[in-house]
Amino acid sequence: MEEGVTEEARLCFYPFLSAASNYVEALGVTLDDLITAATFERARLRGKERVREAVREGAVRKPVIMSTAQAEMELLSYPFARILVSCISNAHLVRRYALSEAKSAYNKLLEDSSTGSSSSAGTDLIYEMAQEFEIQVDFSRLSHEHEHAQVQMPFVDYLRFTSNLRDKRWKLVNRGLEKGQVNLRKGEFLRVIQEAIYARISKDLPLDVSGALCESIRKYTRDIEAELEERRKKFGDSGFETSAGFRVKDPSCFPPCITAILANLKDGVNVPHTARFAVTAFLLNLGLTVDEIIEIYKNSPDFDEERTRYQVVHIAGSQGSTKYTAPSCSTMRTYGNCIDNDDVCEKVNHPLSYYKRRLKLKQKQRVEKGVKSKNERP
Ligand code: SF4
Repeated sequence: MEEGVTEEARLCFYPFLSAASNYVEALGVTLDDLITAATFERARLRGKERVREAVREGAVRKPVIMSTAQAEMELLSYPFARILVSCISNAHLVRRYALSEAKSAYNKLLEDSSTGSSSSAGTDLIYEMAQEFEIQVDFSRLSHEHEHAQVQMPFVDYLRFTSNLRDKRWKLVNRGLEKGQVNLRKGEFLRVIQEAIYARISKDLPLDVSGALCESIRKYTRDIEAELEERRKKFGDSGFETSAGFRVKDPSCFPPCITAILANLKDGVNVPHTARFAVTAFLLNLGLTVDEIIEIYKNSPDFDEERTRYQVVHIAGSQGSTKYTAPSCSTMRTYGNCIDNDDVCEKVNHPLSYYKRRLKLKQKQRVEKGVKSKNERP
């Protein structure tokens, strides 16, 4: 543990740990107290903020803990935030909240393990996390062939936590496998831990909460719902955003496959390479810039701006004209990327044709509506 940092303050950064829930349990605060007692209003407000930060920023801010009382409120805010998310019961919110908590913990882990890298602190932290998620890490059996590896973990545990990591560097064949152990750098191991944290946080969400309980905390959930609604209005139902402004005519006409991939990217879900290619080529064909597309990938768990730029530029081509056309429906089907197809899909064989067709239909409906209201005028 860092010098001068109390155990309860440290647990505030990792509220999903068993030690944190034991600490909270030992406080003896009942659910009723947490929901209604004036003493815990600070914990409730902070719980609400946790969720709002996740919605707004995709990360949960780590506070500066000055006292035990403050640490306890912070620790209590975590179960309250989970109750809030459960009452709203929105699949997108559940994913975004769990991912935001996991990402914030990962950043803190990276920070803590690098400050302690030369001492035993970094190693202690790795052992602690490994123990928490029942992983047998080993520092002693590393061979000289893998001089960059700092941690070994059993391949069964590795597979248990990396099934959502799509980048090819995570594939088992691309790792050094020695006697059933996978070699990892410390940072990579912590990235695996982020996946374990995400799985733990999202496991029981939404919690089974009663309607009466949700009603009693309506004043907190109302603010979060307003935040969600504001984002929906700002960024549209297509589910993604660009800082440079969205230049596509009408994202509501996107085919269901592209909408589904974009929603996953927005929620920070790992998306297979073929789906990334499809969505990138589709949006480039529609006229989005490289920078606008990079913005879309910023929520991805493994976002690396340089690598993403390289890949998008490669698909865009260097001469201004897009090098690749978006894949056809049959290619999308081959790779399992044809998702949620609807009746318009039956009339097209390409996602771009779907988009054009839906745009035309929408324009026609608008014209018809205009004519109708003109005729109805007195
Ligand atoms: S049929 Fe084509 S446009 Fe429709 S969801 Fe499948 S891939 Fe997308």
